[in-house]
Amino acid sequence: MYDVIIIGGGPSGASAARRAGKLGLKTLLLEKEKFPRYKPCGGGLSEHAISYLDFELPKDVIEWEVTGTKVIFRDQLIKANKDRRLSVLVSRDKFDNFLLEKAKETGIEVHTGEKALCCREMPDCIEVETRQGTYQAKFAIIAEGAQGLVKTCVRPADNKDEYGIGLVTEVPAEEREIKERLGKNLELHFGVAGGGYGWIFPHKTYYSVGIGGAVKGLPHPKESMLEFLQENGFSGEYKLHGHKIPWGGLKRKVMGSRVLLSGDAAGFVDAFSGEGLAYAIRSGQFAAEVIAGICLQGRSLKDLSRYEALCRAEFGTHLKYSLMFSRIMHRFPDRTFKIFTSSDKMLDKYLEVIDFKINYKDYLRWCLLNFKLR
Ligand SMILES: Cc1cc2nc3c(=O)[nH]c(=O)nc-3n(C[C@H](O)[C@H](O)[C@H](O)COP(=O)(O)OP(=O)(O)OC[C@H]3O[C@@H](n4cnc5c(N)ncnc54)[C@H](O)[C@@H]3O)c2cc1C
Repeated sequence: MYDVIIIGGGPSGASAARRAGKLGLKTLLLEKEKFPRYKPCGGGLSEHAISYLDFELPKDVIEWEVTGTKVIFRDQLIKANKDRRLSVLVSRDKFDNFLLEKAKETGIEVHTGEKALCCREMPDCIEVETRQGTYQAKFAIIAEGAQGLVKTCVRPADNKDEYGIGLVTEVPAEEREIKERLGKNLELHFGVAGGGYGWIFPHKTYYSVGIGGAVKGLPHPKESMLEFLQENGFSGEYKLHGHKIPWGGLKRKVMGSRVLLSGDAAGFVDAFSGEGLAYAIRSGQFAAEVIAGICLQGRSLKDLSRYEALCRAEFGTHLKYSLMFSRIMHRFPDRTFKIFTSSDKMLDKYLEVIDFKINYKDYLRWCLLNFKLR
């Protein structure tokens, strides 16, 4: 009998596992892939996300440093930069592998290449079934990402309004060329994907190029992606990777009687920017802390609901208003993005949202006061 079984070894599962191991929980992590593995992602890791890590990232994991953003809408281009680093760029195979190694350091048990088939909640424990056997624990953390279905033991599978889709590819390029094109900026293109945007992000040996948006806003994702690549001067043959991007967070159920959902499995993603890494890391840590409170500090089972309260207090309002902001912006995109790109001030202030210095609620209020978005 384990204290906790963690399903999924991505950033959320690995962060939960490291915290669980450090707190002294008897922990098993199940990951279906052998690591390192590819994960479709832009690889933007914000300073906010980094602030949750209790260790330094090695130099070879950090591929680029970013201080600002260029935003393009039709023929308008604006740029804003801060005098500090806002995010770094990582390749997810390396980054995720590093996080999993940091979890293993704490002495927990990790089975890679072992897929959880289902998770059952019993009165006194949970049971997780894999092809190799059945495991029991007092609690489970489901950190299986956006596409897994083990979470259906807590709530039904997401419907099409509850997630978006992203397509991404890696375009090889020389470091010098990337520096010339992007400098220390991310590049965001609005108006290319309904309910989302296209991006060009700098990495050490490639550009991450992608588009993401609402399912309804991207009826022909592959064609839209090929068009976006061509319009931006990328004319080679590229392997495209598609993936769901969930949103909604605490609007939906994120816990059962002995099971907590974390990261993408819980829907903890900023609906406007698509950022999910910060919330995946933090929610994984919270899940482990709450379970440790019950297993090791004699708190009652009812205390499991503290998980929701912690997530709500830390980033609940932020994610809720990200969805509202996204809906406002994408409802009448011609009007709103014209306003958004009419002044560097608006983007400069938005960088504070990316930096988690202000939340979307305050940003919306600021926009209404300053730009008559009403
Ligand atoms: C195209 C795209 C671009 C993105 N760009 C960014 C970005 O630039 N910055 C950012 O912050 N966020 C970005 N995101 C979001 C970010 O990728 C996610 O929020 C983040 O990966 C969530 O981490 P996670 O650990 O919850 O899930 P994941 O990273 O998906 O990890 C889940 C893990 O669980 C494993 N697993 C699944 N099912 C099972 C099972 N049954 N048994 C065992 N293991 C299982 C998987 O193999 C995987 O390793 C992007 C997303 C997409 C789709």
